[in-house]
Amino acid sequence: MLKRYLLAPGPTQVPPEVLLAMARPILHHRAPEFAALFAEVREDLKWLFQTRNDVLTLVSTGTGAMEGAVSNFLSPGDKALYVNGGKFGERWGKLCKTFGVNATEVKVEWGEAVDPQTVADALKKDPAIKAVYAQASETSTGVAHDVRALAEIVRSREDTILVVDAITALGVFDLRADEWGLDVLVAGSQKALMLPPGLAFVSVSEKAWRLAEKAKNAAFYFNFKKEREAQQKNQTAYTAGVSLLLGLQEALKMLKAEGLGNVFARHARLAHAMREGMKAAGLSLFPKQSPSDALTVVSAPSGVDGQAVYKNLREQYGITAAGGQDHLKGKIFRISHMGYVDTFDVIQAIAATEMVLTGLGHPVKLGAGVGKAEELLLAK
Ligand SMILES: *Cc1c(COP(=O)(O)O)cnc(C)c1O
Repeated sequence: MLKRYLLAPGPTQVPPEVLLAMARPILHHRAPEFAALFAEVREDLKWLFQTRNDVLTLVSTGTGAMEGAVSNFLSPGDKALYVNGGKFGERWGKLCKTFGVNATEVKVEWGEAVDPQTVADALKKDPAIKAVYAQASETSTGVAHDVRALAEIVRSREDTILVVDAITALGVFDLRADEWGLDVLVAGSQKALMLPPGLAFVSVSEKAWRLAEKAKNAAFYFNFKKEREAQQKNQTAYTAGVSLLLGLQEALKMLKAEGLGNVFARHARLAHAMREGMKAAGLSLFPKQSPSDALTVVSAPSGVDGQAVYKNLREQYGITAAGGQDHLKGKIFRISHMGYVDTFDVIQAIAATEMVLTGLGHPVKLGAGVGKAEELLLAK
């Protein structure tokens, strides 16, 4: 037998309470019970997004909401700017291209965070740019971009919105949609929200709705205006993801019971222990700055194939983590600590990493990383 542990940066572990909630009989999406459930969930999502605006729920993965965040706000030929510091930043560029948007790329070296000044300069050079797209947490590199600083730059411009992919950031660290001016905030169910894949969420500011009024791109399924109309009546335009919404109700209950500040503090504490533990095991972290608290990205030591680490974690110890993508394949491995995670998820990951590296012939002092993490996670 090999017991399985899920420590991938999505999908992530789902708490038993949430699994049980989703096992309930199927609720019909036009039944009165559904409207009551959706009303509650919609309110709790506003709490999580720290917004007074509507948070739309869509049946799709996160990318569906990203797509909608391009098609609903821009017309073919419109200008946009996107921060490309990894696989998901690159996706903004591909989406813009798909919808005929003329997008300027702000290229950021993988492992680095965007310098907000470069975005400010690009916007100054081209006042016609209507939207800025970025990740709050770039999951392919483990870097957090300073979206608060980006918001400060964008918010003074009357006709430009900031769109943030917060798919591995919402529910991990503080993101204040209204207070900071994050006009459009995108999230997905299978990362920090402790749910299976299948729901995407998007909050939209008044400024962004004004832009949506003028947009001429085609959006049929991911039509935010149509969804807003329905969702304000606690309905969905098409069939709702009813079982996932029952799970979401439970997950939001758990997050509310913990408190938003405590949720962020837990992630910060676990992320810190993971990073320090990996360093104490003699490893170096891939991000050169601003590591995201959602996951830890570790550079494979020289002579060690990062894919072999990922593969052996899985095959020898039952732990599903993640490898690197594109040119980082073989160079890194990625371990998540977002969502339904606590002390022993981190200890387990560090212990298994030490064991795998030893198995691969890389010298590690067994227990060095674990000891460090234990020290940092000791209950007070
Ligand atoms: C997971 C993820 C996505 C969405 O991917 P899906 O497969 O569509 O859920 C987008 N952006 C980031 C930063 C992610 O981590």
